[in-house]
Amino acid sequence: MIQAVISQEGQRTPPKEGRPRPLVTMQSVSKRFSNGTTALSEMSLNIEKGEFISLLGPSGCGKSTALRIIAGLGDPTSGSIDWPSSRIGANGKPQGDIGFVFQEPTLMPWKRVFDNVYLPLRLAGRPKSAVREDIEAALETVDLQDFAKAYPRELSGGMKMRVSIARALVTKPKLLLMDEPFAALDEITRQKLNDDVLKLWRNTGITIVFVTHSVFESAYLSNRIVVMKARPGRVHSEFPLLTSVERNTHYRTSEDYRQACEKVSRALLEAMGSETDGHS
Ligand code: ADP
Repeated sequence: MIQAVISQEGQRTPPKEGRPRPLVTMQSVSKRFSNGTTALSEMSLNIEKGEFISLLGPSGCGKSTALRIIAGLGDPTSGSIDWPSSRIGANGKPQGDIGFVFQEPTLMPWKRVFDNVYLPLRLAGRPKSAVREDIEAALETVDLQDFAKAYPRELSGGMKMRVSIARALVTKPKLLLMDEPFAALDEITRQKLNDDVLKLWRNTGITIVFVTHSVFESAYLSNRIVVMKARPGRVHSEFPLLTSVERNTHYRTSEDYRQACEKVSRALLEAMGSETDGHS
């Protein structure tokens, strides 16, 4: 069912005929830093509700810069970014609809897991007693309900990352942005967390944009892969993937998965080739 959406001005407006509005639209976004680096050039991307998009590309191709702009944490130098389905605050940025998971879990070592997850709600001025159930629900989503009283030092790397995901989920965002969240973890933990994130995506209907430089991870997780190239960072190509086939251990050894990885690897090599040729 198509529901009424909030316009940029913060007013409830009826939806246009057809599909619901995208969560985010980037139109020809470029970003040039003060040191002269052009991190992004003319990047356009629509993020539709319920998608799992991977931004895939080599280091330095602007993936994190794009993610920060999508989060409203940085402004484009030119082009536009809009959040047509979100409440927009006085600062022109979406209010509370976006969760962000960084590469490092960045937990407060002196606080228990429960209080680490409470942080964004505390910053929003919510008393702990009023949000206790929300925190417990977020911990349950990442299967850490029995570790609420633990300190970060008592947890494995994968568990710390799950706390960080719970902290991003506790505000009930529509859009979850993940910046290479599992890059520092061992392969087995990474695969387990890939499955956990997929389960979260399936069960909650949340929209996810996931930054990675792993072809295998992007082809396992996403319904759309956006391959980027560097100098300057821009979109090289896009690959829609079927999500009707269940992603599990069998999928990792299936012909569908192999073919997807091969196609995407070829595109990535092409994107990196044009970078080293100097024809960007
Ligand atoms: P990726 O996430 O794909 O590795 P980034 O978005 O981090 O790429 O960076 C893209 C380019 O912009 C790189 O050349 C990087 O050095 C540069 N860059 C990123 N952040 C800044 C910044 N705050 N100031 C100057 N240059 C930056």
